[in-house]
Amino acid sequence: MTRLIFLGPPGAGKGTQAQILAASFEVPHISTGDLLRAAVSQGTPLGQQAQAYMDQGELVPDQLILDMMKERLTQADAASGWILDGFPRNVPQAIALDQMLASLNQHYDCVVNLDTPDDVLVQRMLARGRKDDAEDVIRRRLEVYREQTAPVIDFYSDRNLIPVNGNQPLDAVTSSLKQAIQAPKQIA
Ligand code: AMP
Repeated sequence: MTRLIFLGPPGAGKGTQAQILAASFEVPHISTGDLLRAAVSQGTPLGQQAQAYMDQGELVPDQLILDMMKERLTQADAASGWILDGFPRNVPQAIALDQMLASLNQHYDCVVNLDTPDDVLVQRMLARGRKDDAEDVIRRRLEVYREQTAPVIDFYSDRNLIPVNGNQPLDAVTSSLKQAIQAPKQIA
């Protein structure tokens, strides 16, 4: 059973690494960004409400995200574990996640924080070429990260938070992550 929360700034490689680990641990990779992009491309009511926020690099309102996550975490495949990527994105979402997990009688194993310097983040995002990866939107997403998401690191600071250096080649990040995640389990 693997239940991980992935934190880190946009462009840190969270999505790529979360996907690799999810495949390796055979649990779903739950990315709020991917779920929202799917809703936008399908033109659902959620997608229609979320799109303008995403295009501007702002956070989508908490209530929409929390409803979406409650639905996702109660799907059958999530009963056997998950890797959360892009959620929680602010402290109110982190508090709501605690409540959601308590009501599902689930506990996370650890919170991974993928540390990466700003210049590397911008380079990676520019190379990715997503719709919200234009330079001004990237700048705004980094600001939103610092203002709203970075405090989530403090929220988890005494609750199994593991820092991992994201400024390494992809394979080295994956190895560091696997080591970091498995270490506390061996002690337990
Ligand atoms: P990401 O793919 O995680 O970089 O997310 C892309 C965009 O989706 C973000 O810039 C936000 O507009 C929105 N988004 C993703 N996750 C969340 C979240 N947990 N809360 C609010 N907005 C989110």
